[in-house]
Parts: sequence; C-alpha cells; structure tokens
Amino acid sequence: MSALLQLDGLDVFYGASQALDAVSLQVDEGQAVALMGRNGMGKTTTISAACRMLPLRKGRVVFAGQDISAWPSFRAARLGIGLVPEGRRCFPNLTVRENLIAAARRGYWTLERVQHMFPRLQERTDQYAVSLSGGEQQMLAIGRALMTNPRLLILDEATEGLAPVIRREIWTAITRLRTEGLSILLVDKTLAEILPFADSCVILDRGRVVWQGHPKGLDGDIQQAYLGV
Ligand code: ATP
Repeated sequence: MSALLQLDGLDVFYGASQALDAVSLQVDEGQAVALMGRNGMGKTTTISAACRMLPLRKGRVVFAGQDISAWPSFRAARLGIGLVPEGRRCFPNLTVRENLIAAARRGYWTLERVQHMFPRLQERTDQYAVSLSGGEQQMLAIGRALMTNPRLLILDEATEGLAPVIRREIWTAITRLRTEGLSILLVDKTLAEILPFADSCVILDRGRVVWQGHPKGLDGDIQQAYLGV
C-alpha cells in the first residue's frame, strides 16, 4: 500500500509553547487511522498541521506524493484533503442543500448520494443549518466534506457530545465510507468504536507520538497510561 498522507517529524509551536514534537504518522490509501490521546495532547494541532492551517517549525507534510508543507490550506483541500473540523462548522444562514452545494466539486459524491447516506439531511434539505440539531449539523459537516470529493477524509471528534442513536448513525456512515475504500484519519476517544474500525492507532501524549500500531495491541496498560481508560 502506498502512503497517501505522510507527516514527517512535525514540530509546531503556538508562540513560545511547543504543541507538537517530532510527530510522524502515515495514512495509506484505503486505510483508517485513529489519532488518540487525552485532552490537550495535540490531536487537533496535528490535524490542523496536516491540513496546512498551521505553520511548521520543522518537518514535512506529504500528500499524494507532493510536499505540501508550504502550501496554504485551500490548496491542500483542493488536492483532496477533506476536513470535518471540531465544532461542525457549517454556514448557519444557508439551507442544508445550499451548504452542500457550496462545497461541491466534481466526483462520485453528489447532493443525491450525500442525502442518500444521511436521510435526515434529505428531510431537512430546505431548513437553515442553524435550525438543525447538533447531530444533524455533524452529518451536514461530513456531507460538506464528502461533497468536495476528498481522497482523504479527516474527522475531528465527529461524535463527541451526541446522543447514542445519532452517534450510531454517524459511525455507520463512517464505517460504510471506510468499507468503500475511502482513506480516513480520525480523532476520537471512544475505544469501543475505534477498535473494530481502525487499521492503525496513533497515540499522542504531550505533543509526542508515544504508541502506534494495530488497535488490537492497545492493552490495558497503554490505555491506562495514555488514554485514561
Ligand atoms: P482536545 O481533545 O481537548 O481537543 P487535543 O489533543 O486536540 O485536545 P490540541 O487542541 O491540539 O489538543 O492542543 C495541544 C496543546 O496546544 C494544548 O496544550 C493546547 O492548550 C495548546 N493549544 C491549542 N490551540 C492553541 C492556540 N490556538 N494557542 C495556544 N495554544 C494552543
């Protein structure tokens, strides 16, 4: 399998404070990678660096064979990195349909296909995004990312704080995307859902990668030391 995304020795700072220290990870074509760790350990920073939203002090971001370390985020997005950010940013004063169409780029994912995947979005197609529930907004955020027809989908805490029934719907959708061969990098804390889903887990602790491997290898000691389980 070939690497689709490669983060190579990333150092990232916020002012004088170092948030990432030599972070390396790889997502191969068709692979699902889970980025884990307790609060404040650098997961969102890693994702932001991958999407080129933060400057690198050191290291490289390579996507689809191109060094994109110096690229602005819109160019990285155009190359095929689709981000579902923490906090589900949609346009509140556009309808569901308008939100989806605004993100559209040519490819497999169309308005019809996204609405088929999330029937709730179809039912609410003419509603303003601001009037949706948190779970529906999350579905819309995922739909928007799919409408860009990404090669890699990055999800930051896609199910955090949602009701169990909605969480299940979202996990079902993400699992379907993975089965269909989409490459996925996701931040999540729910082991029960990650274990059967991910091909590989990367654990961050205070800005460093402290463990990576197949989720089956996540034994109790590791979980206790780094995930607070
Ligand atoms: P969470 O699970 O809480 O979202 P995280 O693992 O995603 O946490 P980050 O948000 O990447 O962690 O934060 C890593 C470190 O960088 C933390 O110490 C955080 O306080 C700091 N940090 C994050 N964003 C900023 C910022 N904009 N300015 C300054 N420091 C920041």
